[in-house]
Amino acid sequence: MNAFFIRNIIFPLMEKFKGNTIRKKFKFLQELCYSSKQEIESFQKEELKNLLLYCIENVPAYKGFKYLKEKIEKDPSEAIGEFPVLEKKNFIKNFDYYLSERVDISKCILNRTGGSTGEPVKFYMDRETVEWYEAARYLGLSWWGINIGDRCLMLWASRNDIRNSNNLKEKIKERFLKNRIIISSWDINEKNLKEIIRKIKRFKPLYIYAYPSAVYKLAYLLNENGVVFDLKLKGVVTTAENLYEYQRELIQKVFKCPVINEYGARDAGIIAYQCPHGKIHVMSPNIYLEFVKTESLDEKRRILLATDLHNFVMPRLRYKLGDIVSVDEEGCDCNIAFPVIKEIDGREDEVLITRSGKCYDSHFLTTIMREMEVESILQYQLIQHSLDNLTLKIIKSDKFNENEIHKILKLISEKMDGAKVDVEYVNSIETGPSGKTRYVIREFNFSK
Ligand SMILES: [Zn+2]
Repeated sequence: MNAFFIRNIIFPLMEKFKGNTIRKKFKFLQELCYSSKQEIESFQKEELKNLLLYCIENVPAYKGFKYLKEKIEKDPSEAIGEFPVLEKKNFIKNFDYYLSERVDISKCILNRTGGSTGEPVKFYMDRETVEWYEAARYLGLSWWGINIGDRCLMLWASRNDIRNSNNLKEKIKERFLKNRIIISSWDINEKNLKEIIRKIKRFKPLYIYAYPSAVYKLAYLLNENGVVFDLKLKGVVTTAENLYEYQRELIQKVFKCPVINEYGARDAGIIAYQCPHGKIHVMSPNIYLEFVKTESLDEKRRILLATDLHNFVMPRLRYKLGDIVSVDEEGCDCNIAFPVIKEIDGREDEVLITRSGKCYDSHFLTTIMREMEVESILQYQLIQHSLDNLTLKIIKSDKFNENEIHKILKLISEKMDGAKVDVEYVNSIETGPSGKTRYVIREFNFSK
């Protein structure tokens, strides 16, 4: 299907039919992102003020904060600090309290996270919320010259999403309305490689949208088999999992295009997007972020609190997503005026902790393996059971060498203040129902 046709005929028709305003929001965000920092901040403040005022009037969980009304009207970014931080477990437990009293539930969409880390979270949103998410994604893509309706190859791993996309109606919608084909990461293997290559060559995608582990798996197989593509891709957009440097390098080499990091969460929408200068810009007209210092983390790392500015159906203020990010004081010299984050370090329970209080994020082992030029490991998962006990699960590569593994175990043990590290050789590493691959898991809570 022709991208021009989709962009200019089908998409506008769909908008009319459904009454949605994604393109209008996208154009608005596009203008705003190239305006000044002051304009962006004042838009965000206004949205935050409206949301907080709405919450204290209509949302049971926040009605007790009516006394903050004046403060909110004066300075919402100061007033929000008076509201409690919302932990996922408290939200799940008190689900009904977060539903707006003015909501018509029949017009809402029930969404849920995949639960790759703990219990899945259910929440309501409406079409308006989703449209802001979509508009933010199109904005991020537009920074790379990718437009609405451009041909997209999606490499996906979420079982729920794939199941939905397998029925015929969805397949037609995917192919002809969204100009997209989906390949499940479970189908990416040596046996199916020829068929996958044929599919990709026939479809000629303009960009790839994928879980990093899925597109890495494909890149690895293509590289091993010496397959050379001439696709002229605008980029490979990775989402849903942390993107590791070794993945970025191989994906870039095989697909001959930049790897673009999209930072989103099912329960918070598109949070940030990487720009062509390599910095990660926060979608601040959509989301209000707070970066909280904690003693257990080093100077530059912060726990992230997110407030989705456009979900009035089920607002969650200062919602703790469980992600840790590094702040960036330098900013970006591109012309996008949205603020920047330096790096997304991973989830809170992916940080390893040693007996003496040192912290390592989920990039820790990848960095070691890179420095040592390790070739023995195809995939790994490092599990910290306690301060003194870890297990390294390994899928062996063709170039397996036991000495190399011993060296890695010794080095991990040294870094972890002498903790015992066992090795376990496995054929596969289990992913949760969301299909996300987790490289590091800490099984216990820390408090300091
Ligand atoms: Zn930038």
